[in-house]
Amino acid sequence: MVGFTTTIPLEILIAAGRPPADLNNLFITDPDPQGLIEEAEIAGFPRNICGWIKGLYGTVLRHGIGEVIAVTEGDCSNTQALMEVLCLQGVKTIPFAYPYDRSRETLALEIRKLSDHFGVSAAQVAEARAQLERVRAKVHEIDRLTWDENRVSGEDNHLFQVCTSDMKGDPAAFEREIDEFLRAAQTRAPFSESLRLAYIGVPPIITNLYPSLEEMGARVVFNETQRQFSMPYATADLVEQYRRYTYPYDVFSRLDDIEEQIALRRVDGVIHYVQSFCFRQIEDLIVRKRLKVPILTLEGDRPGPLDARSRIRIEGFLEMLKARKPC
Ligand code: SF4
Repeated sequence: MVGFTTTIPLEILIAAGRPPADLNNLFITDPDPQGLIEEAEIAGFPRNICGWIKGLYGTVLRHGIGEVIAVTEGDCSNTQALMEVLCLQGVKTIPFAYPYDRSRETLALEIRKLSDHFGVSAAQVAEARAQLERVRAKVHEIDRLTWDENRVSGEDNHLFQVCTSDMKGDPAAFEREIDEFLRAAQTRAPFSESLRLAYIGVPPIITNLYPSLEEMGARVVFNETQRQFSMPYATADLVEQYRRYTYPYDVFSRLDDIEEQIALRRVDGVIHYVQSFCFRQIEDLIVRKRLKVPILTLEGDRPGPLDARSRIRIEGFLEMLKARKPC
């Protein structure tokens, strides 16, 4: 199993026949994610470091993962230190960087270096890409059924898209699961909630956010980052695919995508999720300046259900959105 700290060109691991594991997915689906954070804190991680970073560390040790691809540019400012701590534990780490300027040459070189490390040719990677594109297209259909036909919950939309980062370690099995889900979703009765929401920012550490919103009469019809993991754009080649992918680059291209989808999906309001102690919290001020729809900034710290204060804030936000909606 090869772990990675955020989305990487998955095609390379598939071509190499190495089972991929997005450490974030392993962490948040662990029966005891809080325990993984505590293990990291016992090892010496400070309290004021993001829960995801500590969770990733605990996950690598708990699963005995010996090799980790660490995205050192384009994701998290803490990854380099995480990589060094993992090295100390004897874990082999392989750096991968998304160039901030989206240089095609630099990204192509990074992809080539990673391919060389795993001993795969461009032709093998292209073959893996074709296989993954078929699976991703089915996940795009789940996304369309969410906003266009209203047949998929915000949580299912989140889960299927977030899992495209590692295809649950086995693309063929994941594809079968998607096929089964699609068969059921295509014929079920549509949701009829009164409010449509967009969720933007990193995926939530809060475990019951989506069902809680639905209990309150609002459904998420756009999960920004999760949709990006599913590679939503048609592109000519692998390098272009990872250049269009917005998450590792500047906030402005993310906002172009968000604005387009808010209009297309007829979104009433936006939840901007920010993680405690994450540098990305600073971007909230840009998001607020740019977006023209109401925004609730929601902060999460550790894995667990929605706390009472956040629930009250969400209820107030949804009441305000309902009052704004034409009858
Ligand atoms: S939430 Fe922010 S600080 Fe935490 S791992 Fe992600 S990018 Fe890093």
